Formats: sequence, structure tokens, C-alpha cells
Amino acid sequence: MATDVLVVATEASNDGLARAATEAIGAGARLAGALGGELWVLAPAGVAASEAAELGAGRVYTYAPGAEVLSTVTEAAQLSSSRIIVVNRGAIGLDVAARLAARLSGGCVLGVTDVIVQGDDIEAIAAIYGGAARAQFRFVNAGPRVISLAPGAGEPPARQQGRTTEVVHIEAAGDARVRVMEPAKAAEGPRLEDAAVVVSGGRGLRDGENYGLIRELAGALGGMPGASRAIVDDGWAKPAEQVGLTGKIVTPDVYFAAGISGASQHMAGCSNARAIVAINTDATAPIFRYAHFGIVGDCLELLPELIRVAKERAASG
Ligand SMILES: Cc1cc2nc3c(=O)[nH]c(=O)nc-3n(C[C@H](O)[C@H](O)[C@H](O)COP(=O)(O)OP(=O)(O)OC[C@H]3O[C@@H](n4cnc5c(N)ncnc54)[C@H](O)[C@@H]3O)c2cc1C
Repeated sequence: MATDVLVVATEASNDGLARAATEAIGAGARLAGALGGELWVLAPAGVAASEAAELGAGRVYTYAPGAEVLSTVTEAAQLSSSRIIVVNRGAIGLDVAARLAARLSGGCVLGVTDVIVQGDDIEAIAAIYGGAARAQFRFVNAGPRVISLAPGAGEPPARQQGRTTEVVHIEAAGDARVRVMEPAKAAEGPRLEDAAVVVSGGRGLRDGENYGLIRELAGALGGMPGASRAIVDDGWAKPAEQVGLTGKIVTPDVYFAAGISGASQHMAGCSNARAIVAINTDATAPIFRYAHFGIVGDCLELLPELIRVAKERAASG
């Protein structure tokens, strides 16, 4: 039996779909292919919906920006009769995924790092205990399997420029208990979550002033500075720079961890980086269990050297 997949791609702006949405569409396409089913996508009407078509959706369900999302997603799930629903990560996704599964008597797993196809069904793998272990989840309820992906767990599909597809617009009745007063303003400027290079510092910097070295190296590498919670609590770095379970989840190509011990709560925010470079004076620090490249040494000696090399390289093009 073919199993259809609905992707809920709500993370979008006037410019189109956000990375979280295109990653979810990529994962949905892969699952639909493996299960012999169709790929349906729910996206806001406009540029985002056109993009969903270019990314391979068999049909796009659209809704007006500002519509009540849970009712809209529920209607799309019912109209499409999809057994598998991939909700893009993000504030809206987190808000609707579990409630959608409950409404439709299904199951829900968030932060999925991998999906295993078992016949015409799936099992989901996700981190638990703040990233210290991984669990494999089997769905037992009859309703839809609702999952949302961890950052970097899906690859956006290749774009077929100009491709169009069937569009079904949804006018959901909405939930009388919920009224949108004013949409929250999106933060301005580059986002830590989108940076290709993140240079983070921890207590090993010894003094708040030395966090300047982290900012300088991040700038020289065209990246952004991050921090452990310990130094955010100490006021050395800003809360928006915190990486981890209670901070930002980042998926850069390269993550530098200077003077960071590698506590599980910190690693929950960066362990999906493509490469982790750790600098720590303690060769037994947990960070070295996760690092692809490790330097046992004093970050206060090594950071100025790395800044010098990075600036030289940037200057020579
Ligand atoms: C519910 C909860 C949520 C949390 N959420 C987060 C979170 O989101 N993000 C987060 O980061 N933490 C979080 N934490 C805190 C976390 O458990 C750790 O306490 C924190 O990450 C430690 O920060 P650190 O590695 O900078 O400091 P430390 O653990 O003190 O480690 C400092 C490291 O620097 C090394 N070092 C010392 N001097 C040098 C030097 N000169 N050069 C190089 N290395 C040196 C030391 O060997 C040590 O490994 C959370 C904790 C809880 C309980």
C-alpha cells in the first residue's frame, strides 16, 4: 500500500520558504519515494507555495498568512489523508505538531534525526536526555505519524525552476479560542542558527574581556560568535549567543568550541555541526568525544594565532 506524505511548510517570509521548510520538504520527498506515495505540501499562499511546487510537491495546499494554523493543518491532513506528516521545525511547528497528532489520534516525535522505513510504516530516531542518548520510536496509534526534524536532518531537494502543480486553497474555520493579536516581528540581521561558521567560547576564556577573541575570530572567518550558558550567566556573552538545550540550535559547517567542557546540554545545540573543532587544556574533557578535530592547549594562546591566520587568509582572498 502506498503511503502519502504531507509536509507542513509554515516557516516562510515574503521572500519564500525558510531553510527549515525546504529541509522538511526534502525529507518528505525522500520518504514519499521510499514508501511509493505522493508528496503533498502545505505552505502559505504566494512565493512560498510556488517554491513548494518547484521543490517537487505533487499538490500544494495553501492558506492565507495569518490564518489559524492548527485548524488549517488539520484540514490539510484530513483532505490529503496522509499517514505521514512532516512538520517543519520552528515556533509554529513546535506549537502544532503534538496537538495535530492528538486531534487525529496519531503519534508525534520531535527533533527527529533519522527516519527508518519499515514496510509501509516508519520509525523515528531522536535525541533524548538533552542529546546524551538516541531513542528509536515506533508508532502504535492508528492515526498519522507526525514528526518534526532536528536541524540539518533533511536536505532541500533540487529546484525545478518554473514547475507548477495543482493548488488547493484552504479556508479553515479557525479556533474560536485563539485570536492572533499581532504577529511577532522577526529578528533582524544574520541569525546564529543560519551561520556557516560558529566560534563559541566557554569558561576556559577565564575572563569576560577575552570573549572579544571569540568575536574577532568569528568575524575573521565570516561567521558568528556563540557561547556556553556558563559565560552567558556570567554576563560575558549575550543570551542570544547561547548555544545549547536552552539556547540556539546551530548546524554550521564548522563549529569551534574554545574552553568549553562539552556538557550534554551544550552539545544538544551543536552536535549536528558538520565539523567540530575543540580547544581545551584538559585532554579528558567530554568535548573531545564529539570533536572531529581537537587541540589540547590554552585557548588564550591559540585564539590570537588562529585570528592572525584567518585574517591573513581573508586578506589574500
Ligand atoms: C537544564 C539545563 C540547561 C542547560 N542549558 C545549557 C545550554 O543551553 N547551553 C550550555 O552551554 N549549557 C547549558 N547548561 C549548562 C551545562 O550543564 C554546563 O554547565 C555548561 O555548558 C558549562 O559551560 P562551560 O563548558 O563554558 O564551562 P565549564 O564546564 O566550566 O568548562 C570549562 C572548560 O574549559 C577548559 N579550560 C579551562 N581553561 C582553559 C584554557 N585556558 N584553554 C582551553 N580550555 C580551558 C576546562 O578544561 C573545561 O573543560 C544547562 C544546564 C542545565 C541544568
